[in-house]
Amino acid sequence: MVKGIHRPTRAIINLGAIKRNIINELERLDSRVSLFAVVKADAYGHGAVEVAQAAVAAGASGFCVAVLDEAIELREAGFDVPIIVLGIINPAYLQLVSRYRLSVTAPSNEWLLAAEEAYYEFQLTEKIPVHVKIDTGMGRIGFIDKKEMTKANDYLASSPVFELEGLYTHFATADTVDETYFHLQQQRFAEARQLFPEAIKYVHTANTATALWHDAWGSNMVRFGNAMYGLNPSGTELTPPYQLEEALSLETELLHVKQLKKGEHIGYGADYETQDDEWIGTIPVGYADGLRRSFSGYSVLIDGREAAIVGRICMDQCMIRLPEKYPLGTKVTVYGKNGGRFNSIQKASEYIGTINYELPCNLSERVPRIYV
Ligand code: PLP
Repeated sequence: MVKGIHRPTRAIINLGAIKRNIINELERLDSRVSLFAVVKADAYGHGAVEVAQAAVAAGASGFCVAVLDEAIELREAGFDVPIIVLGIINPAYLQLVSRYRLSVTAPSNEWLLAAEEAYYEFQLTEKIPVHVKIDTGMGRIGFIDKKEMTKANDYLASSPVFELEGLYTHFATADTVDETYFHLQQQRFAEARQLFPEAIKYVHTANTATALWHDAWGSNMVRFGNAMYGLNPSGTELTPPYQLEEALSLETELLHVKQLKKGEHIGYGADYETQDDEWIGTIPVGYADGLRRSFSGYSVLIDGREAAIVGRICMDQCMIRLPEKYPLGTKVTVYGKNGGRFNSIQKASEYIGTINYELPCNLSERVPRIYV
Protein backbone atom coordinates (compact mmCIF):
# COMPACT_ATOMS: atom_id res chain seq x y z
CA MET A 1 0.00 0.00 0.00
CA VAL A 2 1.23 3.47 -0.79
CA LYS A 3 1.86 5.85 2.13
CA GLY A 4 0.05 9.19 2.04
CA ILE A 5 3.12 11.33 2.57
CA HIS A 6 1.70 14.27 0.62
CA ARG A 7 -1.18 14.93 2.97
CA PRO A 8 -1.01 16.07 6.57
CA THR A 9 -2.38 12.98 8.34
CA ARG A 10 0.28 11.13 10.32
CA ALA A 11 0.83 8.98 13.36
CA ILE A 12 3.49 10.45 15.62
CA ILE A 13 5.32 7.77 17.58
CA ASN A 14 7.15 8.87 20.69
CA LEU A 15 10.00 6.39 21.01
CA GLY A 16 11.06 8.00 24.30
CA ALA A 17 7.70 6.99 25.79
CA ILE A 18 8.22 3.41 24.61
CA LYS A 19 11.66 3.34 26.22
CA ARG A 20 10.38 4.79 29.48
CA ASN A 21 7.56 2.24 29.66
CA ILE A 22 10.09 -0.56 29.23
CA ILE A 23 12.53 0.91 31.74
CA ASN A 24 9.75 1.25 34.31
CA GLU A 25 8.88 -2.42 33.86
CA LEU A 26 12.52 -3.57 33.98
CA GLU A 27 13.00 -1.70 37.24
CA ARG A 28 10.27 -3.84 38.84
CA LEU A 29 11.52 -7.14 37.46
CA ASP A 30 13.95 -9.43 39.19
CA SER A 31 17.31 -9.09 37.43
CA ARG A 32 17.13 -12.77 36.38
CA VAL A 33 13.96 -12.12 34.40
CA SER A 34 14.36 -10.90 30.86
CA LEU A 35 11.92 -8.76 28.93
CA PHE A 36 11.03 -9.66 25.35
CA ALA A 37 9.28 -6.88 23.43
CA VAL A 38 6.12 -8.04 21.68
CA VAL A 39 6.32 -6.33 18.29
CA LYS A 40 3.84 -8.40 16.31
CA ALA A 41 1.35 -6.69 14.00
CA ASP A 42 3.94 -4.05 13.09
CA ALA A 43 4.45 -3.36 16.79
CA TYR A 44 0.72 -2.91 17.34
CA GLY A 45 0.69 -0.44 14.47
CA HIS A 46 3.61 1.64 15.80
CA GLY A 47 6.23 0.29 13.35
CA ALA A 48 8.12 -2.91 14.15
CA VAL A 49 11.68 -1.97 13.26
CA GLU A 50 11.68 1.43 14.94
CA VAL A 51 9.99 0.09 18.09
CA ALA A 52 12.37 -2.87 18.16
CA GLN A 53 15.34 -0.47 18.07
CA ALA A 54 13.91 1.55 20.94
CA ALA A 55 13.10 -1.62 22.88
CA VAL A 56 16.64 -3.00 22.64
CA ALA A 57 18.07 0.41 23.59
CA ALA A 58 15.84 0.36 26.68
CA GLY A 59 16.96 -3.12 27.72
CA ALA A 60 14.74 -5.66 25.93
CA SER A 61 16.56 -8.98 25.42
CA GLY A 62 14.53 -10.31 22.51
CA PHE A 63 11.32 -10.06 20.51
CA CYS A 64 8.06 -11.94 20.15
CA VAL A 65 6.10 -11.85 16.91
CA ALA A 66 3.07 -13.73 15.65
CA VAL A 67 3.93 -14.38 12.01
CA LEU A 68 7.07 -15.74 10.35
CA ASP A 69 7.37 -12.72 8.06
CA GLU A 70 7.42 -10.41 11.06
CA ALA A 71 10.43 -12.28 12.41
CA ILE A 72 12.16 -12.17 9.03
CA GLU A 73 11.59 -8.41 8.83
CA LEU A 74 13.44 -7.96 12.12
CA ARG A 75 16.37 -10.18 11.12
CA GLU A 76 16.61 -8.44 7.76
CA ALA A 77 16.75 -5.16 9.67
CA GLY A 78 19.86 -6.46 11.41
CA PHE A 79 18.65 -7.51 14.87
CA ASP A 80 20.66 -10.34 16.34
CA VAL A 81 18.71 -10.97 19.56
CA PRO A 82 16.41 -14.02 19.99
CA ILE A 83 13.10 -13.80 18.13
CA ILE A 84 10.23 -16.11 19.06
CA VAL A 85 7.34 -16.70 16.67
CA LEU A 86 4.28 -17.18 18.88
CA GLY A 87 1.95 -18.30 16.11
CA ILE A 88 2.02 -21.69 14.41
CA ILE A 89 4.42 -21.90 11.49
CA ASN A 90 3.69 -24.14 8.55
CA PRO A 91 6.58 -26.67 8.59
CA ALA A 92 6.87 -26.10 4.84
CA TYR A 93 8.72 -22.89 5.78
CA LEU A 94 11.20 -24.52 8.16
CA GLN A 95 14.19 -23.65 6.02
CA LEU A 96 13.35 -19.95 6.63
CA VAL A 97 13.20 -20.60 10.36
CA SER A 98 16.66 -22.11 10.15
CA ARG A 99 18.11 -19.49 7.79
CA TYR A 100 16.92 -16.62 9.98
CA ARG A 101 17.83 -18.34 13.28
CA LEU A 102 14.34 -18.09 14.74
CA SER A 103 12.69 -19.77 17.70
CA VAL A 104 9.30 -21.27 17.00
CA THR A 105 6.25 -22.50 18.84
CA ALA A 106 5.57 -26.22 19.14
CA PRO A 107 1.80 -26.47 19.68
CA SER A 108 1.40 -30.27 19.38
CA ASN A 109 3.23 -33.54 18.73
CA GLU A 110 1.64 -33.60 15.32
CA TRP A 111 3.40 -30.34 14.52
CA LEU A 112 6.74 -31.64 15.85
CA LEU A 113 6.55 -34.68 13.60
CA ALA A 114 5.61 -32.65 10.53
CA ALA A 115 8.42 -30.21 11.28
CA GLU A 116 10.89 -33.06 11.71
CA GLU A 117 9.94 -34.38 8.28
CA ALA A 118 10.46 -30.92 6.78
CA TYR A 119 13.83 -30.64 8.56
CA TYR A 120 15.14 -33.76 6.83
CA GLU A 121 13.52 -32.87 3.54
CA PHE A 122 15.34 -29.52 3.52
CA GLN A 123 18.54 -31.19 4.81
CA LEU A 124 18.87 -28.68 7.60
CA THR A 125 21.77 -29.05 9.96
CA GLU A 126 21.31 -26.60 12.86
CA LYS A 127 18.89 -27.59 15.63
CA ILE A 128 15.63 -25.62 15.63
CA PRO A 129 14.88 -23.94 19.00
CA VAL A 130 11.29 -24.67 20.00
CA HIS A 131 9.06 -23.22 22.68
CA VAL A 132 6.48 -25.79 23.77
CA LYS A 133 3.14 -24.08 24.23
CA ILE A 134 0.85 -25.32 26.99
CA ASP A 135 -2.82 -24.49 26.63
CA THR A 136 -3.81 -23.96 30.24
CA GLY A 137 -7.18 -22.46 29.41
CA MET A 138 -6.85 -19.90 26.64
CA GLY A 139 -8.25 -22.51 24.27
CA ARG A 140 -6.21 -21.24 21.34
CA ILE A 141 -3.09 -23.30 20.65
CA GLY A 142 -0.93 -25.68 22.65
CA PHE A 143 -0.76 -28.96 24.52
CA ILE A 144 -3.66 -29.81 26.81
CA ASP A 145 -3.17 -33.49 27.52
CA LYS A 146 -0.46 -34.49 30.01
CA LYS A 147 0.31 -37.72 28.16
CA GLU A 148 0.98 -35.69 25.03
CA MET A 149 3.25 -33.38 27.04
CA THR A 150 5.25 -36.31 28.38
CA LYS A 151 5.53 -37.70 24.88
CA ALA A 152 6.79 -34.34 23.61
CA ASN A 153 9.31 -34.12 26.41
CA ASP A 154 10.64 -37.64 25.77
CA TYR A 155 10.85 -36.95 22.07
CA LEU A 156 12.62 -33.60 22.51
CA ALA A 157 15.09 -35.02 25.04
CA SER A 158 16.69 -37.16 22.35
CA SER A 159 15.85 -35.15 19.25
CA PRO A 160 18.70 -34.31 16.87
CA VAL A 161 16.34 -31.85 15.19
CA PHE A 162 14.96 -29.66 17.96
CA GLU A 163 16.28 -27.94 21.04
CA LEU A 164 13.76 -27.36 23.84
CA GLU A 165 14.48 -23.66 24.37
CA GLY A 166 11.22 -22.60 25.97
CA LEU A 167 8.05 -23.65 27.74
CA TYR A 168 5.16 -21.26 27.94
CA THR A 169 1.50 -20.49 28.35
CA HIS A 170 -0.81 -17.53 27.93
CA PHE A 171 -3.29 -16.30 30.53
CA ALA A 172 -6.78 -15.38 29.42
CA THR A 173 -7.91 -13.24 32.36
CA ALA A 174 -4.77 -11.65 33.82
CA ASP A 175 -6.29 -8.22 33.17
CA THR A 176 -9.33 -8.59 35.43
CA VAL A 177 -9.93 -8.20 39.15
CA ASP A 178 -11.34 -11.73 39.53
CA GLU A 179 -8.34 -14.06 39.77
CA THR A 180 -10.23 -17.37 39.88
CA TYR A 181 -9.55 -18.39 36.29
CA PHE A 182 -6.00 -17.04 36.45
CA HIS A 183 -5.30 -19.35 39.39
CA LEU A 184 -6.74 -22.33 37.54
CA GLN A 185 -4.42 -21.66 34.60
CA GLN A 186 -1.51 -21.08 36.94
CA GLN A 187 -2.16 -24.44 38.64
CA ARG A 188 -2.35 -26.22 35.29
CA PHE A 189 0.93 -24.68 34.18
CA ALA A 190 2.62 -25.68 37.44
CA GLU A 191 1.56 -29.28 36.78
CA ALA A 192 2.76 -29.15 33.17
CA ARG A 193 6.06 -27.62 34.30
CA GLN A 194 6.80 -30.82 36.32
CA LEU A 195 6.75 -32.87 33.14
CA PHE A 196 9.66 -31.01 31.54
CA PRO A 197 13.32 -30.68 32.57
CA GLU A 198 14.32 -28.30 35.34
CA ALA A 199 16.76 -26.47 33.08
CA ILE A 200 14.92 -24.76 30.25
CA LYS A 201 16.35 -21.48 29.02
CA TYR A 202 13.06 -19.60 28.87
CA VAL A 203 9.97 -20.40 30.89
CA HIS A 204 7.44 -17.68 30.15
CA THR A 205 3.89 -17.17 31.29
CA ALA A 206 3.61 -13.40 31.56
CA ASN A 207 2.07 -11.04 29.08
CA THR A 208 1.81 -7.39 30.16
CA ALA A 209 -1.20 -7.91 32.43
CA THR A 210 0.36 -10.87 34.19
CA ALA A 211 3.59 -8.97 34.77
CA LEU A 212 1.76 -5.87 36.02
CA TRP A 213 -0.76 -7.43 38.36
CA HIS A 214 0.34 -10.92 39.38
CA ASP A 215 3.37 -11.58 41.51
CA ALA A 216 3.68 -15.32 41.37
CA TRP A 217 3.79 -16.06 37.69
CA GLY A 218 6.94 -18.10 38.15
CA SER A 219 8.90 -17.62 34.96
CA ASN A 220 12.09 -16.00 33.80
CA MET A 221 10.88 -14.01 30.84
CA VAL A 222 8.08 -11.50 30.23
CA ARG A 223 6.38 -11.06 26.88
CA PHE A 224 5.84 -7.33 27.21
CA GLY A 225 3.37 -5.90 24.73
CA ASN A 226 0.60 -3.41 25.36
CA ALA A 227 2.14 -1.46 28.24
CA MET A 228 5.25 -0.87 26.14
CA TYR A 229 3.01 1.27 23.95
CA GLY A 230 1.63 3.00 27.05
CA LEU A 231 -1.70 1.20 26.98
CA ASN A 232 -3.38 -0.45 29.94
CA PRO A 233 -4.37 -4.05 29.05
CA SER A 234 -7.30 -3.91 31.48
CA GLY A 235 -8.69 -0.71 30.01
CA THR A 236 -9.53 1.05 33.25
CA GLU A 237 -10.32 -1.95 35.48
CA LEU A 238 -6.88 -2.21 37.09
CA THR A 239 -4.35 0.52 37.83
CA PRO A 240 -0.79 -0.06 36.60
CA PRO A 241 1.96 0.10 39.23
CA TYR A 242 3.63 2.92 37.28
CA GLN A 243 2.45 5.63 34.95
CA LEU A 244 2.07 4.37 31.38
CA GLU A 245 2.81 6.87 28.62
CA GLU A 246 0.84 6.44 25.39
CA ALA A 247 3.32 6.49 22.54
CA LEU A 248 1.09 7.10 19.53
CA SER A 249 -0.73 10.27 18.51
CA LEU A 250 -2.84 10.65 15.38
CA GLU A 251 -2.74 14.12 13.92
CA THR A 252 -4.00 15.87 10.85
CA GLU A 253 -4.88 19.39 9.68
CA LEU A 254 -7.91 21.35 8.62
CA LEU A 255 -8.11 21.02 4.87
CA HIS A 256 -11.33 22.85 4.17
CA VAL A 257 -13.50 25.21 6.23
CA LYS A 258 -16.95 26.64 5.57
CA GLN A 259 -19.95 28.04 7.39
CA LEU A 260 -23.22 26.23 6.84
CA LYS A 261 -26.62 27.70 7.55
CA LYS A 262 -28.92 26.13 10.13
CA GLY A 263 -30.75 23.12 8.67
CA GLU A 264 -28.07 22.07 6.16
CA HIS A 265 -26.96 18.42 5.98
CA ILE A 266 -23.58 16.73 6.10
CA GLY A 267 -22.13 13.44 4.84
CA TYR A 268 -23.47 10.24 3.26
CA GLY A 269 -27.08 9.65 4.18
CA ALA A 270 -27.30 13.39 4.97
CA ASP A 271 -28.02 12.34 8.52
CA TYR A 272 -26.38 15.22 10.35
CA GLU A 273 -28.33 18.44 10.31
CA THR A 274 -26.78 21.71 11.46
CA GLN A 275 -28.56 23.04 14.52
CA ASP A 276 -27.46 26.60 13.91
CA ASP A 277 -25.17 28.44 11.55
CA GLU A 278 -22.12 26.21 12.08
CA TRP A 279 -18.45 26.31 11.10
CA ILE A 280 -17.63 22.94 9.57
CA GLY A 281 -14.10 21.72 8.91
CA THR A 282 -13.03 18.81 6.75
CA ILE A 283 -10.07 16.70 7.84
CA PRO A 284 -8.28 14.15 5.64
CA VAL A 285 -8.72 11.03 7.72
CA GLY A 286 -11.32 8.34 7.17
CA TYR A 287 -12.05 4.69 7.62
CA ALA A 288 -9.42 3.67 5.07
CA ASP A 289 -6.89 5.18 7.48
CA GLY A 290 -8.29 3.21 10.40
CA LEU A 291 -10.82 5.72 11.76
CA ARG A 292 -13.78 3.41 12.13
CA ARG A 293 -17.22 4.68 11.10
CA SER A 294 -18.38 4.28 14.67
CA PHE A 295 -16.24 7.32 15.54
CA SER A 296 -19.04 9.54 14.25
CA GLY A 297 -19.88 11.95 17.09
CA TYR A 298 -16.45 11.55 18.76
CA SER A 299 -14.64 14.80 19.56
CA VAL A 300 -11.23 15.49 18.07
CA LEU A 301 -9.14 18.37 19.42
CA ILE A 302 -8.33 21.67 17.77
CA ASP A 303 -6.61 24.56 19.53
CA GLY A 304 -7.13 22.69 22.82
CA ARG A 305 -10.91 22.55 22.22
CA GLU A 306 -13.27 19.76 21.30
CA ALA A 307 -14.72 19.46 17.80
CA ALA A 308 -17.24 16.66 17.23
CA ILE A 309 -17.11 14.55 14.10
CA VAL A 310 -20.41 15.22 12.36
CA GLY A 311 -22.10 12.97 9.83
CA ARG A 312 -20.79 9.63 8.69
CA ILE A 313 -17.07 9.07 8.36
CA CYS A 314 -16.06 8.71 4.71
CA MET A 315 -13.27 6.52 3.36
CA ASP A 316 -10.67 9.32 3.25
CA GLN A 317 -12.19 12.30 5.04
CA CYS A 318 -14.59 13.34 7.75
CA MET A 319 -16.23 16.56 8.84
CA ILE A 320 -15.97 18.24 12.24
CA ARG A 321 -18.04 20.97 13.89
CA LEU A 322 -15.62 23.75 14.78
CA PRO A 323 -16.11 25.86 17.91
CA GLU A 324 -15.27 28.87 15.70
CA LYS A 325 -13.68 29.61 12.35
CA TYR A 326 -10.10 28.33 12.17
CA PRO A 327 -7.56 28.85 9.39
CA LEU A 328 -6.74 26.08 6.93
CA GLY A 329 -3.78 24.07 8.14
CA THR A 330 -4.72 24.27 11.83
CA LYS A 331 -3.60 21.11 13.63
CA VAL A 332 -6.32 18.62 14.54
CA THR A 333 -5.61 15.76 16.97
CA VAL A 334 -7.59 12.55 16.88
CA TYR A 335 -5.52 10.80 19.58
CA GLY A 336 -2.90 12.61 21.62
CA LYS A 337 -2.26 16.04 23.14
CA ASN A 338 -3.46 19.33 21.72
CA GLY A 339 -3.26 22.69 23.51
CA GLY A 340 -3.15 21.18 26.98
CA ARG A 341 -5.97 18.69 26.30
CA PHE A 342 -5.43 14.95 25.82
CA ASN A 343 -7.51 12.51 23.79
CA SER A 344 -6.28 9.17 25.05
CA ILE A 345 -6.45 6.04 22.92
CA GLN A 346 -8.19 4.48 25.92
CA LYS A 347 -10.97 7.07 25.83
CA ALA A 348 -11.31 6.72 22.06
CA SER A 349 -11.55 2.94 22.30
CA GLU A 350 -14.28 3.24 24.91
CA TYR A 351 -16.19 5.58 22.60
CA ILE A 352 -16.41 2.96 19.87
CA GLY A 353 -16.82 0.05 22.29
CA THR A 354 -13.54 -1.74 21.70
CA ILE A 355 -10.22 -2.32 23.48
CA ASN A 356 -7.30 0.08 23.28
CA TYR A 357 -5.15 -2.57 21.49
CA GLU A 358 -7.31 -2.34 18.42
CA LEU A 359 -6.97 1.35 17.57
CA PRO A 360 -3.25 1.60 16.77
CA CYS A 361 -3.41 -1.82 15.07
CA ASN A 362 -6.21 -0.50 12.89
CA LEU A 363 -4.21 2.41 11.51
CA SER A 364 -3.60 1.53 7.91
CA GLU A 365 -0.30 1.61 6.10
CA ARG A 366 -1.48 4.72 4.27
CA VAL A 367 -0.86 6.76 7.43
CA PRO A 368 2.86 7.63 7.65
CA ARG A 369 4.49 6.94 11.00
CA ILE A 370 6.74 9.78 12.15
CA TYR A 371 9.23 9.03 14.94
CA VAL A 372 10.13 11.58 17.57
N1 PLP B 1 1.95 -13.46 24.49
C1 PLP B 1 1.08 -13.92 23.60
C2 PLP B 1 1.04 -15.39 23.34
C3 PLP B 1 0.21 -13.06 22.94
O1 PLP B 1 -0.67 -13.54 22.06
C4 PLP B 1 0.29 -11.67 23.23
C5 PLP B 1 -0.58 -10.70 22.57
O2 PLP B 1 -1.68 -10.92 22.17
C6 PLP B 1 1.22 -11.23 24.15
C7 PLP B 1 2.04 -12.14 24.78
C8 PLP B 1 1.34 -9.79 24.52
O3 PLP B 1 0.21 -9.37 25.20
P1 PLP B 1 0.14 -7.93 25.84
O4 PLP B 1 0.16 -6.97 24.71
O5 PLP B 1 -1.17 -7.90 26.55
O6 PLP B 1 1.31 -7.78 26.72
